[in-house]
Amino acid sequence: MLVVMKNDATEAQVQAVINEIEGMGYRGVPMPGSLRTAVCIIGNQGPVDESQLLVLEGVKETIRVTKPYKLVSRETHPESRSIAVGDIKIGVGKPVIMAGPCAVESEKQALTIAHLVKEAGAQVFRGGAFKPRTSPYSFQGLGEEGLKILAKVRQETGLLIVTEATDHTNIELVEQYADIIQIGARNMQNYSLLRRAGHSPKPILLKRSFAATIEELLMSAEYISSEGNNQVILCERGIRTFSDNTRNTLDLSAIPAIKESSPLPIIVDPSHAAGKRDYVISLSKGAIAVGADGLLVEVHHDPPHALSDGMQSLYPEQFSELMKEINGLIR
Ligand code: PEP
Ligand code: MN
Repeated sequence: MLVVMKNDATEAQVQAVINEIEGMGYRGVPMPGSLRTAVCIIGNQGPVDESQLLVLEGVKETIRVTKPYKLVSRETHPESRSIAVGDIKIGVGKPVIMAGPCAVESEKQALTIAHLVKEAGAQVFRGGAFKPRTSPYSFQGLGEEGLKILAKVRQETGLLIVTEATDHTNIELVEQYADIIQIGARNMQNYSLLRRAGHSPKPILLKRSFAATIEELLMSAEYISSEGNNQVILCERGIRTFSDNTRNTLDLSAIPAIKESSPLPIIVDPSHAAGKRDYVISLSKGAIAVGADGLLVEVHHDPPHALSDGMQSLYPEQFSELMKEINGLIR
């Protein structure tokens, strides 16, 4: 349930509502908006008796929230959420472009690619230092050494950094280096990692699992928000279907569907969806056309020798072409 305060409600009146909710055995989370503040009740198993709340000073009305996710629902937060990272905002204005290799392989590799993608217009550098790989024998990432390289990339290029935390044992390290912490598709329902991410001061890029519904994705975002971190950026990266012409099937319908249900920004990763570099530009254009708030694209200066995901990594010239085509769409 949402307790909507009057426009002129004071902070003390909002606090009194929170105290009353706590007295009922639930939690009250204030949700300030540009027009009014509301308090979202979480932790209740069934309907809440609203009569005790409606009589409090400053309360305008109560609204039932019909979705199982509360804090990340548009019902509780009608305005689209804008997430500030460095000097960029994700979720309002122009789409944000994040680009870089699948994995950080060396300082030279990361810096070479970072300069190229920056030149082409990317604002955020992506690159995994901890890699979740299907095979235990594949390259697993450079770990902390990779994070240090990413810090150097930020220092030299001014690009912001997004990199993945693969479990609750490395998120503490990752958050010291990253501007945005990625939680990968395989970990979308790793609830201890989600809860820990909820305590991070950094924004979280939460990727949709290849077998998750949109409601399940939003419930995972709710885990993070319920611990206090409401800076969550969602990412559609393809789901598993019977179709085998691509690595995964990019679910572009997820973008308008998520925008309808949630105020959170949603970006698209066309690379892991396609699995083949030649489809990445088309899928990127589709993503922008359906309203994605950004792209997460794999780019490598030498894809045939990439230690992971070379097949889907764009050559730098292809990334420049992608940027030109995207700019043509958003102007
Ligand atoms: C990645 O971004 O490199 C990655 C591993 O993606 P996903 O979690 O979507 O498979
Ligand atoms: Mn990858």
